[in-house]
Amino acid sequence: MIVTIDGPAGTGKSTAAKRLAAALGFEYLDTGAMYRAVAALCLEAEVELNSLAAAELARTSSITFQSGRTMARGMDVTEFLRSPEVTRAASIVAQHPEVRAALVARQRELAGVLNFVCEGRDQGTVVFPQAECKFFLTASPEERAKRRMDELALCGKHVSFEEMLTQQRERDERDLNRDVAPLRPANDAIVIDTTAISLEEVLKRLEAEVRR
Ligand code: C5P
Repeated sequence: MIVTIDGPAGTGKSTAAKRLAAALGFEYLDTGAMYRAVAALCLEAEVELNSLAAAELARTSSITFQSGRTMARGMDVTEFLRSPEVTRAASIVAQHPEVRAALVARQRELAGVLNFVCEGRDQGTVVFPQAECKFFLTASPEERAKRRMDELALCGKHVSFEEMLTQQRERDERDLNRDVAPLRPANDAIVIDTTAISLEEVLKRLEAEVRR
C-alpha cells in the first residue's frame, strides 16, 4: 500500500508522514531529502544547479537514509541538508526535468516492494498516481513561515519572520510554476488545511482515512 502526502513547505507534512508511517508500521520516504541531497552534492562539487550535470549527479550518486542520517556519495550530509543554502538550492535543482526523472525513477523502485508513506510535492500526481490514499496538506503562508521559524530555532538558527516569508514565497513560486510536475493536489487527494488544527488532529484524520 502507498500513502502519499504532498503540499508546500511548512504544512507539517514531514512530521505527519513520519508519525503516520510509524503508526501504520510502514516505511517512510522523504523525497524532499533526495532533492536536498542532490543540491548539497552540486554545491559541494560547484556544479550549476539547474543543469544536466546536476541530473548526472542525481542519476549516478549513492543517496541513502539510515538511522536518521542521510549519506550522499559516502558523506554524511544530514545537517547540511537543513541549511538555508541547501534549502534554496534544492528548489532550483528540482526545476530540471532530468533531475526529476532521475529521482522519480529511484522513488518508484520502492513501489510493490514495501508499504510506505511518502511525502513531497508530486507523489500523488506524478510518481504514484496509483496510490491508494493521497493527501495534500496546506496552511496559510504566515502560519507556515512561523512553523519553519520555530523549527529552525530548535536547531539554534534564528531567521526573521519577514526573511522567512520571502524565502518561502520564492520557493513556492518555483514549485508552483515549474514546467515539470508543478505543485498541485491530485484530483483524488484529500486536501486538509492545517492552519488552525494541531498536528495530533491532522494525524488522527490521516490515520482514520487510511484505515477506512
Ligand atoms: O520538502 P522539502 O522542503 O525538504 O523539499 C526541498 C525542495 O525539493 C522543495 O522546495 C521542492 O522544490 C523540491 N521537491 C520537489 N519534489 C518533491 C520533493 C521536494 O520538487 N517530491
